[in-house]
Amino acid sequence: MQMCEPHYAALRTEIENQGMASMIPETAEQARASVITALEEAQTGVQEGPFDPLLTAVFQIYGNAVRTGGLYLLAGDYCPLCEVRKHVPAAENNADALWISGCVTAIAEHVRENGLLKPPN
Ligand SMILES: [Zn+2]
Repeated sequence: MQMCEPHYAALRTEIENQGMASMIPETAEQARASVITALEEAQTGVQEGPFDPLLTAVFQIYGNAVRTGGLYLLAGDYCPLCEVRKHVPAAENNADALWISGCVTAIAEHVRENGLLKPPN
C-alpha cells in the first residue's frame, strides 16, 4: 500500500488547516525517527516521542482501508484513498475527502484533549 502524492498532499493540507502544521516533522530524517518511535510505542503501549499527526493519519487510513476493503490492499502499491474512491458508489464519490477530514478531525480532538499541540517554532 502506498498513498499517492495528491492524497498525501491533501492529508497534509487538512492537518495544516486544522492547526497542527507545527507537529509535522520538517525533514525526512525527523520523519524516519517518527516512524521508528511510533513502531516502538506500538510495541510498548507507552507514548514517549512527539506526536506526529501526519504519520498517525496515514496509519489510521491504512488500517481502515484494510478493514473496509480487504487484505488485497497489502499486496500491491494501492493508494487506500484512491481505492475508497473507486469502490464507493458514484453518488458518494467524495468518500476519500470524507475519510481525510474525518480522520484529521478525530486526531485534532485527540491532540486538544491531551494537550499535545507543539507551539510553532
Ligand atoms: Zn490516492
